[in-house]
Amino acid sequence: MEKWLMGVDLGGTTIKLAFLTANGEILHKWEVPTDISDQGKNITADINTAMEAKLHELGEDKSRILGIGMGAPGPVNAENGVIYEAVNLGWKNYPLKQSLTEKTGLPVWVDNDANTAAIGEMWKGAGAGASDMVCVTLGTGVGGGVIANGMMVQGISGAAGEIGHITAVPENGFECNCGKTGCLETVASATGIVRLALEDLKNHPESKLTDLLGANGSITAKDVVDCARNKDAYALHILDRVSFYLGYALANVANALNPEKIVIGGGVSKAGDILLKGVEAYFRKYTFLRVRESTELAIATLGNDAGVIGAAWMVKTHLLD
Ligand SMILES: [Zn+2]
Repeated sequence: MEKWLMGVDLGGTTIKLAFLTANGEILHKWEVPTDISDQGKNITADINTAMEAKLHELGEDKSRILGIGMGAPGPVNAENGVIYEAVNLGWKNYPLKQSLTEKTGLPVWVDNDANTAAIGEMWKGAGAGASDMVCVTLGTGVGGGVIANGMMVQGISGAAGEIGHITAVPENGFECNCGKTGCLETVASATGIVRLALEDLKNHPESKLTDLLGANGSITAKDVVDCARNKDAYALHILDRVSFYLGYALANVANALNPEKIVIGGGVSKAGDILLKGVEAYFRKYTFLRVRESTELAIATLGNDAGVIGAAWMVKTHLLD
């Protein structure tokens, strides 16, 4: 009987779950809501319940499952599976690996969710097996993961790869959730793009964004992208600034690490060429020759599945390799 890997991608609103083959092909995937009541103490039991219910539905039982890998939204000690902090879930120094092991009776590995997404892209996505790779996820925030020599770089306190908190605006930057100002996240995430656009919009009544703001009371990152596609000069200017911040930060990441690929994912990456052409241009401008010639920017290919695939990889690599 072929054993399955289980991947779990824990978010603040939903838990994504999947059963995968040993080769990382998704066999079954589904989602359940995240219960954040009582400081998130029901979450691991809910994962076990969701797993058992799905196995029952498929006429299988737990003996099918080799182990569980899990990505969690916060810095993690990948050695002992303690999550230092997950603000959205109410966890602080929470023994996630231990709790999920007790609830399921299965071997469990835990890592930060940006890291598991990076591993997923390395294994089955845009990384295509590259063992030196950087992943950056442009969503509501900006996440990152660094893989060197095929291993996730954790850092001394689980905080490595936090590309979103690279300082992009040294003076007078916007405040970031991390407590610092001027982080890349404040100018290159979906919320950051809106913030940048709103900053000087009052001086641009000619922009379509002014009409949209008037009509809807707010604008979205997608509005900025759509207006730029329609050659709105102010929207194009905003996207050029976003491209600069991203290209500049990623160039310096590349100058330090010279990865084979930097994989860009998340909702903002769906802006496509109108953003990425600019990122590429600034990236080339700020990388030195050997890096420019060898480090490639690539778009993530796994979408929302990257997390569960990367989580399952941890099971494979610990039990099958
Ligand atoms: Zn920050």
